[in-house]
Amino acid sequence: MDRRSFIQLVGSAPLLGTISTAVGVTSIYGIRLWPAPDHTRVVLDLDGQVEYKLASSGKPEKITLRLSGAQPILALDAPVENDSRLKSVKTTVASNGDFIVEFMLLRGVEARSFQLQPNESYGHRLVLDLYNLKQESQESQALTVKPQSGSRRDLTIVIDAGHGGEDPGAVGRRGSKEKHIVLAVAKRLEKMIKQEPGLRAVMIRKGDYYVSLGGRVRKARKSEADLFISIHADGFKKSSAHGASVFILSQKRASSEMARWLARQENRADRIGGVDSRRDKNGFGYALRDMERAANAKISLELGELVLNQLRKIGDLHGNQVHKASFAVLKAPDFPSMLVETGFITNPREENKLRTAAYQQKLAEAMMRSVKVFAQRYPAPTNHTPTTSTTQSMKRVAKRYYKVKQGDSLSKISRTTNITIKHLRKLNPGIKDALKIGQKLRVQ
Ligand SMILES: [Zn+2]
Repeated sequence: MDRRSFIQLVGSAPLLGTISTAVGVTSIYGIRLWPAPDHTRVVLDLDGQVEYKLASSGKPEKITLRLSGAQPILALDAPVENDSRLKSVKTTVASNGDFIVEFMLLRGVEARSFQLQPNESYGHRLVLDLYNLKQESQESQALTVKPQSGSRRDLTIVIDAGHGGEDPGAVGRRGSKEKHIVLAVAKRLEKMIKQEPGLRAVMIRKGDYYVSLGGRVRKARKSEADLFISIHADGFKKSSAHGASVFILSQKRASSEMARWLARQENRADRIGGVDSRRDKNGFGYALRDMERAANAKISLELGELVLNQLRKIGDLHGNQVHKASFAVLKAPDFPSMLVETGFITNPREENKLRTAAYQQKLAEAMMRSVKVFAQRYPAPTNHTPTTSTTQSMKRVAKRYYKVKQGDSLSKISRTTNITIKHLRKLNPGIKDALKIGQKLRVQ
């Protein structure tokens, strides 16, 4: 592999850096590494904007970040552990006063960088994301047509542990972080789902890293979610607030002041977690028919009530009804979804409970019992049955179409028809990556 394909640099402003108008010396007071399955995020804490350059070099393979007029006010030696991309991080000060951070690499990466403005949780941040280089074979594998069979497919339950990485979520008095508690509960639920025949679990995050709100929804759609459960343990301004609650999406007004407040808290996660807003657009471009949207909203409510009744058995509830609010993470209308607030981490008594493995297990079991009822009431269709909605909408738009053959994938069809995947998706709203043989796709 030559060096150019080993390392790709993608600057967010001029190709290799970002220029700021700041004059004088910028202090660097922290560096954090967040390894995720597909990328490693490096975050530098700064006291202002900084002028920087990103460069790559080989022998050994490394990426160099050169910050002009910047100096560390603390030792920045970053130990690298359990990271499949980074071997080590070295910092030096150049003779002209530039501060240099060298990232020694273990594999090919695409480097993207951007700066973040201060917010309620952080000051200025410079973010460097090191993405795995995309392997063509992996991509086409993911889009391969599933073999036709008369058997019932597994129901996919997508589990979204809230927050992560730069975004700790709410923090309790004893210092418990929401991101750790909800991941522990999510992992317990994942384990139970995996043991249940006919069910498949997909985790939005498996470790301590941040996934954007849009990224969470995209991953759920890509995994062909049948049900989406987002798990949280938020805080409130009053420490007396307590009890578990369940939220579903409201297209209109929030059902209470608390619901509105919590939705606002959740929806700001991207600013804290650190998302390059120019790259991560939250528009999903759904063209789902109102009927399907309404059906999924109804199932969400029904399932929300089931979960609430299970939570009632293990602890206090915050209100006796399923709450409604405008949560960004629930905005995909093509599968039922809910957000479970397992308790208020800002309530000392609940924080103590949420920290224990025993209560985390009880929470996961409560959700699991509801998932089982869902699986009985709404079993997956058998593989060979085309969904009614697809058949009906195809009849209506029977102009020019392409019939999916054995071995087809979206990328293959894109090459055959000379239509980009993006345009194919636009022509076929709601199209899934796993195509069905015989399925008809609009091509004009
Ligand atoms: Zn939360």
